[in-house]
Amino acid sequence: MAAAESDREVPSALCTEFLNFSVKDTASKWLQVTDLYKEVYHHLARYVPKIYCLGPNLNPQSEDLLAQMLLQAPLEWYLCGEDPSTGLAKLEQNNQPSQLCGHVFKVGEPTYSCRECAADPTCVLCMQCFLGSVHKEHRYRMTTSGGGGFCDCGDTEAWKKGPYCQKHEPNISDSCQEDPLAHLSTDMIARCYNVFSVVLKYAVDMLTWDKEDELPPGLEPPDRSDTYYCMLFNDEVHTYEQVIYTLQKAVNCTQKEAVSFATTVDRDGRKSVRFGDFAFCELAKSVIVVSSLRNTSRQSKPLRVQVMHSSVVAHQCFALKALHWLGHVIGYSDALRRILCQVGLERGPEGENSSLVDTLMLCDSKMWKGARNVYHQLFMSSLLMDLKYKKLFAIQFAKNYRRLQTDFMEDDHERVVSVTSLSVQLFTVPTMARMLITEENLMTTIIRTFVDHLRHRDLQGRFQFERYTAQQAFKFRRVQSLIGDLKYVLISRPTEWSDQLREKFLEGLDTFLELLKCMQGMDPVVRQVGQHIEMEPEWEAAFTLQMKLTHIISMIQEWCATDERVLIEAYKKCLTALTHCHSGFADGEQPITLSMCGHSVDTIRYCVSQEKVSIHLPVSRLLAGLHVLLSKMEVAYRFPEQLPLSELSPPMLIEHPLRCLVLCAQVHAGMWRRNGFSLVNQIYYYHNVKCRVEMFDKDLIMLQAGASMMDPNHFLMIVLSRFELYHIFSSADCRKRYNRENANKDVVQQNNTLTEEMLHLIMMVVGERFEAGIGQVEGCDEIKREILHQLCIRPMAHSELVKALPENENKETGMERVIDCVASFKKPGVTGRGLYELRPECAKQFNLYFHHYSRADQSKAEEAQRKLKRQNGEDTALPPPVLPPFCPLFASLVNILQCDVLLGMLGAVLQWAVEPSAGHWSESMLQRVLHLIGMALLEEQQQLENSSEDNDVYFNFTLKMSRPGEAPSNTASVLALLENLQNAPHLEVHEDMIRWLLKTVAGIKTMRERSASTSTVTASGSRGQEETACDKDKAERKRKAEIARLRREKVMAQMSEMQRHFINENKELFQQSLEELDASTSTSLEHSPASSDAALACVGPRRSRPREKRQVVTCILCQEEQEIRADGKAMVLAAFVQRSTVMSKNRTRPPHDPKRYDPLFMHPDLSFGTHTGSCGHIMHSHCWQRYFEAVQAKEQRRQQRLRVHTSYDVGNGEFLCPLCECLSNTVIPLLPRTMGSSSCEQPGLGQWLKTSGQQIKAMHSAHRKLQPVSEYWNAEHSVKGTHMFPSNPYSSTIKEMLTTFGTATYKVGLKVHPNEQDPRIPIMCWSSCAYTIQSIERLLVDEKKPLFGSLPCRQDDCLSSLARFGSACWTAACQPTVQGHFIRLLAALIPDPQVEASPCILDVDMLHLLVSVVLSYGSVHSQDSSGLSVDAVQLHLFHLITVAHMVQILLTSGPEEVTMEQESGEAERGEEEGACRLYNTLRTHVGSSLPEVGSGWHLWRCVKTGILPYLRGAALFFHHLHGVPAPPELHALCPGQWEVLCGYLSLPSNLLQLFHGQQELLEPLLHGWCTHPGIQQTLQGGGVLVSFPRESNSLIDLPDDYSALINQASSFTCPKSGGDKSRAPTLCLVCGSMLCSQSYCCQTELEGEDVGACTAHTFACGAGVGIFLRVRESQVLFLAGKTKGCFYAPPYLDDYGETDQGLRRGNPLHLCHERYRKIQKLWRQHSITEEIGHAQEANQTLVGIDWQHL
Ligand SMILES: [Zn+2]
Ligand SMILES: [Zn+2]
Ligand SMILES: [Zn+2]
Ligand SMILES: [Zn+2]
Ligand SMILES: [Zn+2]
Ligand SMILES: [Zn+2]
Ligand SMILES: [Zn+2]
Repeated sequence: MAAAESDREVPSALCTEFLNFSVKDTASKWLQVTDLYKEVYHHLARYVPKIYCLGPNLNPQSEDLLAQMLLQAPLEWYLCGEDPSTGLAKLEQNNQPSQLCGHVFKVGEPTYSCRECAADPTCVLCMQCFLGSVHKEHRYRMTTSGGGGFCDCGDTEAWKKGPYCQKHEPNISDSCQEDPLAHLSTDMIARCYNVFSVVLKYAVDMLTWDKEDELPPGLEPPDRSDTYYCMLFNDEVHTYEQVIYTLQKAVNCTQKEAVSFATTVDRDGRKSVRFGDFAFCELAKSVIVVSSLRNTSRQSKPLRVQVMHSSVVAHQCFALKALHWLGHVIGYSDALRRILCQVGLERGPEGENSSLVDTLMLCDSKMWKGARNVYHQLFMSSLLMDLKYKKLFAIQFAKNYRRLQTDFMEDDHERVVSVTSLSVQLFTVPTMARMLITEENLMTTIIRTFVDHLRHRDLQGRFQFERYTAQQAFKFRRVQSLIGDLKYVLISRPTEWSDQLREKFLEGLDTFLELLKCMQGMDPVVRQVGQHIEMEPEWEAAFTLQMKLTHIISMIQEWCATDERVLIEAYKKCLTALTHCHSGFADGEQPITLSMCGHSVDTIRYCVSQEKVSIHLPVSRLLAGLHVLLSKMEVAYRFPEQLPLSELSPPMLIEHPLRCLVLCAQVHAGMWRRNGFSLVNQIYYYHNVKCRVEMFDKDLIMLQAGASMMDPNHFLMIVLSRFELYHIFSSADCRKRYNRENANKDVVQQNNTLTEEMLHLIMMVVGERFEAGIGQVEGCDEIKREILHQLCIRPMAHSELVKALPENENKETGMERVIDCVASFKKPGVTGRGLYELRPECAKQFNLYFHHYSRADQSKAEEAQRKLKRQNGEDTALPPPVLPPFCPLFASLVNILQCDVLLGMLGAVLQWAVEPSAGHWSESMLQRVLHLIGMALLEEQQQLENSSEDNDVYFNFTLKMSRPGEAPSNTASVLALLENLQNAPHLEVHEDMIRWLLKTVAGIKTMRERSASTSTVTASGSRGQEETACDKDKAERKRKAEIARLRREKVMAQMSEMQRHFINENKELFQQSLEELDASTSTSLEHSPASSDAALACVGPRRSRPREKRQVVTCILCQEEQEIRADGKAMVLAAFVQRSTVMSKNRTRPPHDPKRYDPLFMHPDLSFGTHTGSCGHIMHSHCWQRYFEAVQAKEQRRQQRLRVHTSYDVGNGEFLCPLCECLSNTVIPLLPRTMGSSSCEQPGLGQWLKTSGQQIKAMHSAHRKLQPVSEYWNAEHSVKGTHMFPSNPYSSTIKEMLTTFGTATYKVGLKVHPNEQDPRIPIMCWSSCAYTIQSIERLLVDEKKPLFGSLPCRQDDCLSSLARFGSACWTAACQPTVQGHFIRLLAALIPDPQVEASPCILDVDMLHLLVSVVLSYGSVHSQDSSGLSVDAVQLHLFHLITVAHMVQILLTSGPEEVTMEQESGEAERGEEEGACRLYNTLRTHVGSSLPEVGSGWHLWRCVKTGILPYLRGAALFFHHLHGVPAPPELHALCPGQWEVLCGYLSLPSNLLQLFHGQQELLEPLLHGWCTHPGIQQTLQGGGVLVSFPRESNSLIDLPDDYSALINQASSFTCPKSGGDKSRAPTLCLVCGSMLCSQSYCCQTELEGEDVGACTAHTFACGAGVGIFLRVRESQVLFLAGKTKGCFYAPPYLDDYGETDQGLRRGNPLHLCHERYRKIQKLWRQHSITEEIGHAQEANQTLVGIDWQHL
């Protein structure tokens, strides 16, 4: 098999050749020949097959070395004419480096674009250039590169400003105009030219070579062997899995090899899978072909395989090498680069388009991926880096464009590996784009190629996407890249037009109009009546096309806007195109006459609800856009004679857009329900922000354009007719419509909705004036208004606003320029995101009928705005805002508001509203009518205010509205109707609005009267009027405010009632938490009287005895109260036990072997610990058991039924706390406080040592000699029941719970199966107690909180139960076992000849020792007859361990720091002397491995700071064990803690007295400790030396700028697949390792399962818990075990206070320290697993993710 001979030796034949080979001689020979080409080919023919491809496995290192020696070196020598090492150096020295950076991007590398200065979004900088550029102070966008493309630094056309970074800044002696060849000798140029010609020709020959068994002439090998490769090629049809499967079958390789083959094929595009003689390879080929066909049922294509002769493969390998070499050599000099470009573009013998570059391009789709990548790279570093040749290359590219695109369509590779993707490098250069348009007619070429590839047309020649297959869909996707190219060409608008550019642009426009004509009217729909449609028609393709073209259409308009002549011509062309379209579909439409209110108009009979209608009208819409430009650029007024205005037929212009709008209205009215979702989706996109600019908006504009050229009455009648409402409003007695017509409720309902929609349309036609050219507005008014209306709905985050606004082709919304005028920014807290809020003064510009609101938006905005007004104590009318005036071309539109037909319609609706509705009219209909009246009144008011002379104002709505209705009898006027409706009880909601209308009418009347009498005082007069109105307003507002206040009070009363109710219902809960509060606060209160007379002590015979207190708790499940008693029912706390490495000081320590590990002593590096946490909720043990059984049963049923996971693993004992849903996996029993016996006589240290020595001896003889634990449980000890248990004080349920918790801790802590008999159970419990105390002590330090009184009660309860459980757990174990533990623990301090292998004191964590030894003493004491009190023993043990810890600290204190020694006061003199003395004693024992330290100050400081965490931990421990209240000083962070702490612990504040006071007794112990062999070993660097105090671990430091991380990740390669880029680089935030996540390559096996790199890492680094940052996604990942995980918001925010998960927006991201600290706190608190549990409960989809594969 292939893997065998990987270390191939260089064949000896070649060795001799190599030894005899002289580079210089070869080069000199070449220098003399005339036909270099033949000579070099001969050389290559001889050597290449000897170097490359000699076996099944390629050996790149040795091949490259040989190729360098035998092939490249002579070329270089020839090139330089001398030794290349000197020649190339000279070249480099003389080189004037290019100002272009040209750095080619790797996959995932960060790129930067300046949003202010980049010519277009494709202009990017590499990180180095960006950091040295001016743009880093600008608004920039950061993205990750998809690979390919290069840095545009230095390209003056790419940047409006700051084109150079500091590094690429051109020299002052600007030499860029100079020809780089000037520095080279003609000889050199000639040689260079020769050698490049030959090499490039060779590379092109070989890479485009398609014969498998032959070589090009001149390259035939001297001797042919029968060696072949079976070469597998990449395609995009077969999946990874299919390829792997096929290979395993066909070539009989392992899964691993198949994966590696498939990976290489995917990366390089081909890979040899077999090597051997021809027959052998041919066989493999046929098997692959057949089996790939068989197991891919869907695709008809087999995998592509070729059997190639080894010499062909060899030459192709070297051809790639040769291209690399060329790229390398031209890097030395710009002159060489230029020569290479010249060689490449030189026309070949076959005439046009036959240069080597052309040949490569045209063969692109035939080459394999690897070859394409290499030559593309060479193009980028040569042709694209030389400004002169870039242009020539662009021309060739444009000439070949059609061919290349066609090849690309046929090819199935992604676009990034196609030469067509180079278009972005060429077309985005503005001068180049323009040149290609004028000289190569590029615009036309692109559009024509595009149209040619969309072949599916209907009878009228329109595109047809119905019945469109998957393959066509695939093609369609590929064709879309052409639109991208067109976009590049158009992205920068010309500043100057030449006649030629005009001509070619208009030619391009013609082609474009041809394209649009194919779209006009495509995908028409017909309303389905009766039956529902059978199949949803395909609609997405047409919309995709529309969406892709949206920016192109906009850009074409912008181009037209830069030149009047072009605009006029374009307008004409577009109109012709539209007329042409209309001739096609005006058939069969009969003319009819409409008449109403004394006006009549001719139109056609057409019903949207009965005939075909299409939503696609791009030609009409383009014309609408151009029409606005006529007005905006004033062409319409300056050159009316050049415009075909007389040819315009307004009814024709509006017809199709109107149909489209009516279609939308009918869909809203529910008339098209049977047409299915396809139509609903189309309507949605028609209005959607992605499409509306070139769809809905333009239809509206076309209506405005048409209406402005028509009689308003005629316009409205046509509108009524198209809405199919004409019959209602035109009938003589329309005002009584519903009295007789109440036949069909559905029809009435439909007509109501249609009327609403039509009224809305009229409002929009008259009111939408914010587009420059329609209304007299500035460019930014439109966007301001959009933002304003979005923020009227609610405050929004930056990204939400961006999503709601249309983006231009540069992905800009223009929001940043104006946002501050309309909104203020509110920063986010630790959660949530920053929000923009509308400035209050902008609220008056709110328009309820804003044309871009959906119905949902509208009602939300209405509610929000009314609420706002109420809060301000204003009336709730939402009148229309004041509008800007129209441009002259559209000015006549206002007449719609005062035309007879409209007044007739208004009157009708108002008349209907007199009667209560009962469904005959609707509230929103009336609301719209009122709004329209308001608009008309404001129009009149505005005109009056703005006119200098009264007779200017022809607009007189007030007059018209006071006139009685016309036909048939004198009906009431609009004004009269309004007055009538004002007090109608059923119209209360509209009361404010009607009042506002009437007030405005009155105001206008006054204005007219005043101005009629004295035109000069108009202004002041109206103001006076306003003032009285103002007073009235004020009174009104006051009344309203009073009402609001009363309402508020009522609500408050209701709220507090509800709260009371809630408390009653949950009484028990509240009581319980109050009691808890009481319990923890009472500890501080209890002592206050006591503390005044006697100091509090928590350990030793003098320890304070807290008063007996009955402890009563309530079960959260049955709500019954229960007293905690040893003989009572067991009460338990829900608890979660987990392994932890949070405090680890040594992450390299391998995990222990769970079966053999002896956990008795914890190493001070704390590498693995067991943490216990609790939510503090208490249950009866039996209630909990019943609950857990129910959960188990439910889970079993669920798993059978649904096979879904839960966030917790019942099989592993996990459950959610029934009250707070906190993840738990066991329960801790609550135990009463241990009552120490009243103090009796206190034995001294000496006496105790003696007594305990005797005791231990007695125990030894009682049990026989104890062996080290490891052997202890391997030997089949049957320890059960052989020993007598002392009387057990606990009830049976408590005993049971003791076992439960003990077993759980043991199981989780050691990762073993539960075994109630295992002697390690009590050890694990003590250890967990100690570890949890230590972790809480650290947390309190980190959070800067006092030792006592700041913990939440759940933690207090948890610690108390843990400590008390620890002291009781021996009762559940075998007593001799626990006594054995005690003996061995004590032996670490007091040498015991009977105990072997005691650890050295440097290998023992003293708090763990203290906790274990104190807690295990219970088992000894129970059999004690010596009369020693427990308290006395505890104190002795504590003192002894404290001394040992001091020794430990001094031994590890390290050399003296050179800091200023502070002159300490008298007080500490004693301590310093003591420390010195102890240290010197230690030195006498240990010897020279302890450095000499003279400073007592330093030593004492080491002891004091080093021992503090231990003392604090001990205080917590004894406090919770004995329940002695802590002194008040420890409840705060005040100075003097040390003394208080020592006092509380019954220690002298000069700790050294512990030693010096008992020196003669302790000296032998000290000696024993110091002479332990482990000491010397550790001190001399043989072990892990932990120094004290141990610093708290932190998560790794993250850079402030997120792009630094991206950059770091982009250079990270997968550690397993040799140099490949990792797709999902993921950073461990605990240790800083970068991992290759979510990928086949880095899966490993863990406990028999394949897991991804992250999961594997968590087991080593975090004991199963992990915190990662997925760098490409900007997402934090929490993992716990193999099945649990969740994503968490990253600590990186943009300037708008938002995270960017997925890195889609590209705003610069910076580290938010607060949020990172929050994540760190979760970790330090051991809350990661809990957080995951909550996330998974909240979001069930998280449960289904295969976290172990990440
Ligand atoms: Zn750069
Ligand atoms: Zn640069
Ligand atoms: Zn900039
Ligand atoms: Zn209960
Ligand atoms: Zn709970
Ligand atoms: Zn890690
Ligand atoms: Zn990998």
